[in-house]
Amino acid sequence: MSFESLNLNPAILQALTAAGYTEPTPVQAQAIPDAMAGHDLMVSAPTGTGKTAVFVWTALQRLAQPSAKPGRGPRVLVLTPTRELALQVTSAVDKYCKFMRHMRTGTVLGGMPYPKQRRLLEQSLDILVATPGRLIDFIDQGKVDFSRIEMLVLDEADRMLDMGFIQPVERIAMATPATRQTLLFSATLDGGIAKLGQRLLRQPKLIEVSAPQSQHAQIEQRLHHVDDGGHKHRLLDHLLRDTEMGQAIVFTATKRGADRLAETLYDKGHAAAALHGNMNQSQRNRTLDKVRSGNVRVLVATDVAARGIDVLSITHVINYDLPKVAEDYVHRIGRTGRAGAAGIAISFASPDDTRQLKQIERFTGRKIETHVVPGMEPKPVSRGGSSERDQGARRGNNGAPARWDSRRGSGSQKATHRAYSSMRGR
Ligand code: ADP
Ligand code: MG
Repeated sequence: MSFESLNLNPAILQALTAAGYTEPTPVQAQAIPDAMAGHDLMVSAPTGTGKTAVFVWTALQRLAQPSAKPGRGPRVLVLTPTRELALQVTSAVDKYCKFMRHMRTGTVLGGMPYPKQRRLLEQSLDILVATPGRLIDFIDQGKVDFSRIEMLVLDEADRMLDMGFIQPVERIAMATPATRQTLLFSATLDGGIAKLGQRLLRQPKLIEVSAPQSQHAQIEQRLHHVDDGGHKHRLLDHLLRDTEMGQAIVFTATKRGADRLAETLYDKGHAAAALHGNMNQSQRNRTLDKVRSGNVRVLVATDVAARGIDVLSITHVINYDLPKVAEDYVHRIGRTGRAGAAGIAISFASPDDTRQLKQIERFTGRKIETHVVPGMEPKPVSRGGSSERDQGARRGNNGAPARWDSRRGSGSQKATHRAYSSMRGR
C-alpha cells in the first residue's frame, strides 16, 4: 500500500517524504482510512509500529479545514500517561505539520510551572497534548475551553488505566463535546480498556494488528541466568564493554535502584545516567537530550520513565531487573529495534525470578533463548545440575573475582556511593 492511496493532504505527504518514510506501517494502513472517515476507533498494535502517526495525521487532516465553531479553544486533544510521551507526541506533530500553515500546538504537563501553561491555554490553539492530572487542575480552575474539540485521542490508554488516571480521563472526556471523534490506543483491548471504550466511544471499530510470532521479530531476545546481585553487576559491566553496543537502556525495578546502578556504572567508567519519576521535568529532559546527543550511552531507567522514549540509536535493552508485569517486558524491549532497525534485548533472571520469567514467556508466546558468557556462568544448583556441573561451578566460583559479592557483604558499596556523591559535590 502506498501513502497516496490513504488520500493524505499533500503537505502531510511532503513531511513523510522528508522523514524518509516510504510506505504506511500495517497499523497505519488499517486504521487511517477509518480514522479519516470519522469513525471512533480502538486500536492495538505492538510498540514501535507507528501508532502516533495514525492520530496525528488524522488530526492534521481535520485541521487543514477551518473550524465550524468560533472561539480559541483546541480542536484536538491528546491525552498521554506520561510527560515524556506527551513531549514525544508534540514533537511528532511538529515533524508532520512542517509543511502546513502554522499549527498551534500546546503541551500541558505535570511537574512544570503553572503560569506558562495557563497563558498557553488562554491563547488560540489547534492541538493540545496533556497528561490527565494537570489538565484536570486547569479544568477545575475553569481555564480550559473545550467547546471546539472535534477529536479526542487516548494514547497508551492501558497505561493510563494502570496509573490510576481512569477517573480524570473520563472527566476530561465528559468535558468535551459529545459530537467528538474518539480514538483509543492500547496494548490490549480487553478488560478495563473494553469497558472504558464502551463508556467513551461511539460504536467504535476495533483494529488489532497483532502478530505474536513476528512481533519484535527484528529484536533478538536473550536470557542470562544470574545467581545474585553481584553476578548481575559483573555481567552488566561485561556486556556494556562490548563495542558492538551502541546505546543501551537498562531497566531497574525501583527509582532508587536506578540511581544507584547509574552511579555505580559511572564510577566504573561508563557514560551512564538515571531516568525516573523522582526527577523533575527539566532534569529528565536534560538527560534525554544527552542520550539523543550520544553523551549518555547507558540510560538506567524505571518503566514509567522510559515509557514512550523513542531514540532510534538504542541498540540494546537490558532488563537488569525483570518487569513485574509481563506486558511491560514488551514495552521495554520495544525501546530498541525502532522503525525496523535491529535490536538486542537481554534479560537477567535470578532463581527468584522463575515465576516472572514464565509469565513473560507465556505472554509473548515464546521462550527466550539462554545465553552464557564464558567465565560468568551461573551456578547450576537451583536449576538442577549434575555433580559434574556442580564441580565446574565450584571451580568457577572459587576462581572468579568475587569483588561485587564481597563488596555487598562488607557494605563497602555504600562507601562507594558516598564517595561518588561527594565527588560530584565538589
Ligand atoms: P508506537 O506508538 O506504535 O509505539 P511510534 O508512533 O512511536 O510507535 O513510531 C515508532 C517509530 O516509527 C517512530 O520513530 C516513527 O517516526 C517511525 N515511523 C512511523 N511511521 C513510519 C512509517 N510509515 N515508515 C517509517 N517509519 C515510521
Ligand atoms: Mg505510541
